[in-house]
Amino acid sequence: MSGPIVVVGAGQAGFQAAVSLRETGFAGPLTIVGDEPGLPYQRPPLSKAYLLASPDDPDTVTLRPQAFFERHTLKVVHDPAVAIDRPRSRVRLRSGRAIPYAHLVLAVGARARKLPVPGSDLDRVLTLRTRAEADVLRGLLREGIRVVVIGGGFIGMEVAAAARKAGAHAIVIETLDRVMARVVSPETSAHVEAVHADQGTAIVLGRSVTALHGVAGTVSEVELDDGRRIPADVVVVGIGVVPNTELAQCAGLEVGDGIVVDEQLLTADPRISAIGDCASYPSKHAGSRARLESVQNAVDHAHHVATRLTGAPSQAYAQVPWFWTHQFGMRIQTAGIGRADDLRVLHGDPTEGKFSVCRYQGDRLVAVESVNRTGDHIGARKVLAGAQHPTPHQVTQPGFTFKAFAAQTATAAR
Ligand code: FAD
Ligand code: ADP
Repeated sequence: MSGPIVVVGAGQAGFQAAVSLRETGFAGPLTIVGDEPGLPYQRPPLSKAYLLASPDDPDTVTLRPQAFFERHTLKVVHDPAVAIDRPRSRVRLRSGRAIPYAHLVLAVGARARKLPVPGSDLDRVLTLRTRAEADVLRGLLREGIRVVVIGGGFIGMEVAAAARKAGAHAIVIETLDRVMARVVSPETSAHVEAVHADQGTAIVLGRSVTALHGVAGTVSEVELDDGRRIPADVVVVGIGVVPNTELAQCAGLEVGDGIVVDEQLLTADPRISAIGDCASYPSKHAGSRARLESVQNAVDHAHHVATRLTGAPSQAYAQVPWFWTHQFGMRIQTAGIGRADDLRVLHGDPTEGKFSVCRYQGDRLVAVESVNRTGDHIGARKVLAGAQHPTPHQVTQPGFTFKAFAAQTATAAR
């Protein structure tokens, strides 16, 4: 392809798509349309080290300096896309400008879900999706303040850990009966809850928030559905995200939980792809459509689309999904996609703080989540990418490692 490629969204996926297009030989005009100030940056540090760093510390979140964009003739336009004119193959920007495309990559990500209760518009009620929001939270975090985190997902638990490290009080309110239930097994949730409790995070499970109360426009209390009122100096809402589908939907493309694409990450319009957090794609590993929220997913989707657009024969997208979260000393890594009814087999010893949960559908390994066992995680990614998997019995045998199993099966396949 030589015609202009336009990428809407200057986040992890959009940035990577542009870089991969150049790396795979696309020399034509390439524009990244963004709606946030500054250069593309990575989000993972925003709920971790960034919150504890000083604004004067070196910038560790910007993905590449300006010179990189110039060297690769990548144009970043700070002007939100407001419409896709499919008949004329143009993207219309808020300023009124229109950019023509031969191919359009939608990498518009997701936005933080708002808490639908009275008082959620008070001052110091924050969400955490953007660098600007992280700057606000970082400016408020200090010893002794009371941080109430609503939602015990991975962002909520990371924020609670950062708050504790900053010497603040941290209380997490989670509706379900365990934390991080969307991503990990009950065994890992229990471990995370225990480590947090040990570090002084209070966790309230099985309760929801009915209202936020304030004094002079600033939040002061969080009210729960049992009538309890919890004092708060800052509230962080981490109750998940909503994919940005409106641009696609208004252009007549199919959307559901994300912009609907096929196994090539193409929409029904062969000139429009969608990648990253905004894309709902048929996942071999989920056994259904999936919309994943991870750096791996954003980067691998981007590579896939770039490879396809630059003409390489392209198979169905089938990368093994993986993800990480860091809280206190815990490095939790997941590979594959677990389901609620998985058979779970423990590898290692949770009491030592180092274990993996191997998740099975029948005899088929579908996911491995590892706590402080990076070797398992790396090995499991290789195993899940291959055709042969260890049985539930094999993973409990003394001396079993995913790495050795992956090497053995690779040799046998040669
Ligand atoms: P985004 O990064 O959201 O980028 C989309 C961009 O498009 C945004 O800049 C958005 O403003 C812009 N946009 C939207 N609409 C328009 C428009 N109309 N015109 C122009 N621009 C538009 N993942 C991990 O794997 N590990 C982690 O530890 C981890 N930690 C995280 C911590 C935080 C605080 C957050 C928020 C996310 C974290 N993630 C983590 C998830 C990971 O960052 C996301 O999955 C990833 O950023 C998705 O990339 P994306 O490009 O699809 O979306
Ligand atoms: P995030 O990306 O924000 O961490 P997750 O989906 O991983 O999102 O986690 C969000 C968590 O918030 C889930 O555990 C979910 O059960 C919880 N949650 C959703 N709505 C509420 C609510 N109103 N009050 C408390 N917890 C909530």
